[in-house]
Amino acid sequence: MSNEDAEALAIARRLIAEKKDSADGYQQSASKFAIYPQDKGLEYLSLGLASEAGEVAGKVKKIIRDKNGILSDEDKQALAAELGDVLWYVAMLAQDMGVKLSYVFNKNIDKLQVRMDNNTIGGSGDNR
Ligand SMILES: [Mg+2]
Repeated sequence: MSNEDAEALAIARRLIAEKKDSADGYQQSASKFAIYPQDKGLEYLSLGLASEAGEVAGKVKKIIRDKNGILSDEDKQALAAELGDVLWYVAMLAQDMGVKLSYVFNKNIDKLQVRMDNNTIGGSGDNR
C-alpha cells in the first residue's frame, strides 16, 4: 500500500468513526418510517432498493437524453433526493438483517481497500 493509499484509508476510517453515531442514528431515525409487512421485510426492502436505484438511473437517462448529460442544480437536488430514497432502503434492509449501517460502511471500505491493495479495483467478481 502506498503512503497516499494508507493516508486515504486512515482518513476514511477516521471519518467513518466520527460519523458512526450519525450513520447509526440515521438508521434509527429512518426506522420510524418503516411501514411495511414485517414478515416480508427482505422481499419488500430489496424490491424497494431496486426500484429507487431505478429511479436514479431513469433521471440520469433523461438528463443524458434531454440535457446532453449536463446536470442543473435542480437535477442535482432531484438526484440527491433519490439517493436519499436509496439510502433509506439500504439502511432498512441492513436493519431488517440486524446489521448496523456503520458496519455496512466499514465493510465496504475494507473491501475496496483490499481490492486497491491487490490492484483489482477494476474488473468484476464479488470476491476479487
Ligand atoms: Mg424515489
